[in-house]
Amino acid sequence: MSQFVLADTRTGEVCFDGIRVNRGTPCPICKHDTWCLFDGVRGLAICPRTQGGRKIGDAGWLHDMVGGEVPKWQASFQRPPDEVMPLEGAMAMQEKFTSRCDDRVAILAFDLGLSVRSLERLGCGWNGLWTFPMRNHREQICGFRTRTSDGRKLAIKGSRAGLFVPEGRRRGLDEEVWIVEGPTDVAAMLDIGLNAIGRPSCRGSEKEIKRWCIGMRVIVVADADEVGVAGAESLIQTLRGSVRRVEMILPPRGMKDAREALNHGISSDEWRELIDVSESRRSTNGPTR
Ligand SMILES: [Zn+2]
Repeated sequence: MSQFVLADTRTGEVCFDGIRVNRGTPCPICKHDTWCLFDGVRGLAICPRTQGGRKIGDAGWLHDMVGGEVPKWQASFQRPPDEVMPLEGAMAMQEKFTSRCDDRVAILAFDLGLSVRSLERLGCGWNGLWTFPMRNHREQICGFRTRTSDGRKLAIKGSRAGLFVPEGRRRGLDEEVWIVEGPTDVAAMLDIGLNAIGRPSCRGSEKEIKRWCIGMRVIVVADADEVGVAGAESLIQTLRGSVRRVEMILPPRGMKDAREALNHGISSDEWRELIDVSESRRSTNGPTR
């Protein structure tokens, strides 16, 4: 099943995550079973036969299957660049944002049930919205994620999506790292003493993560929904062969993500038990792939 993912180049937010249509699932727009792409979760289809909505490069026209407005995003329609370039002037911007932040870090920490220290380790700043630097695998700043008070995610102009890497992270052969989605989930894992980095969304930045994690023991925490699990599985495929070990787990007890788990008092031991379960399942069933 071929997968077709479009992500916003600035925020890393996934806009379209579809499959190529086939006999079993024909195009909902033109009813053909070749060429078109469709994303059942978001209710979107890209059809090269039926004009309308919005043109997406050579792939066709974007249609909203329930007849709604076609979403507007700044998606990249080309292959993602081989390496994410640093953002010019980013160091000075980061300095300015953190110096303006004052007690706003504490406000965000209080709102989200996180520690000030963990948000500071992620370089949390302020430019009218909260800012978090995103980094390439060399840990150079390649963009800034911004966060509104109601939790919406945007990015500063010129940004490229990248990783959220905390100060004092442990990196290197045989080190353990937990990969979660977004800066506040990283902060939640730091708060219980786990070595964590964040990806910009449930898709994308896979090559950067792969380069960052070479030789490490990686645990990918999937958000507990269809999109989250598909994204984690795709990342695991990319990481296989270049890391010491990689597995996917879901947050404990049916919770949706790392921050919810923190707010329910889940400890690092409880998270680790999930790895053991996943390991014993593998040894009973043999290798899954
Ligand atoms: Zn079609």
